[in-house]
Amino acid sequence: MNSTPSSDEIRLRLTQVCGRMEAAAIRSNRDIHEIRLIAVSKTHPAAVVRAAIEAGVTDLGENRVQEAESKIVDVGRDVAQWHLIGHLQSNKTRRAVQLFDIVHSVDSIHLANKLEQACVDLERAQLPVLIQVDLGHEATKSGVEEHELPALVEAITKCEHLRLTGLMTLPPFFEDAELTRPFLIRLRELRDEYQERGVFGDHRGELSMGMTHDFEVAIEEGATMVRIGTAIFGERETHR
Ligand SMILES: *Cc1c(COP(=O)(O)O)cnc(C)c1O
Repeated sequence: MNSTPSSDEIRLRLTQVCGRMEAAAIRSNRDIHEIRLIAVSKTHPAAVVRAAIEAGVTDLGENRVQEAESKIVDVGRDVAQWHLIGHLQSNKTRRAVQLFDIVHSVDSIHLANKLEQACVDLERAQLPVLIQVDLGHEATKSGVEEHELPALVEAITKCEHLRLTGLMTLPPFFEDAELTRPFLIRLRELRDEYQERGVFGDHRGELSMGMTHDFEVAIEEGATMVRIGTAIFGERETHR
């Protein structure tokens, strides 16, 4: 079991994380307001999520539809922005469209088409999505390889109900966060490339990157969404 963090612990850790985010933004001459903190609450119960919301969290990340479902119903669909950050199986797209405000982890044309169909069926006007890019060529991780990106971008652009808002990555894990920097830079370059082609409309294009051990580096490299679990909620029993 996770040791359940108290509201005070969550509040304190959140203050610390926000302080570190701000310092990283200042170091890299960025406006802190363009960086959204997504508190990753996977494996933690609804009570912990509620404590985080009371402490000021506005955005929550979950990586499994099934686990998220009971929590979102319990905590409230409309009390926060819910982000799906983990691999989505195509038989769970309807549920995902009902439960989540945004999906970070689109990684195939098939999945994009299933999400589009779910939006039509459920009469959801628009679903913001990001494409997950696998920059480390890790077989264990989901995400498209760089060379598959153009076809997926094109497919999503054709989906009337999907709005492509940016790119996401989960780089290989290194003890030394500096070693993730090249991957974070690469994602930014790809975002810039697609931005120039107008793929993200008027928007700059989100960069969803940075976790507990590398969020400061990610902010220095342009992250607009950081996904932070452990630094806010404490260690998880299972490493996922
Ligand atoms: C679990 C998870 C995170 C948060 O990881 P921490 O190291 O606990 O901050 C971020 N992104 C994804 C996709 C995750 O699955």
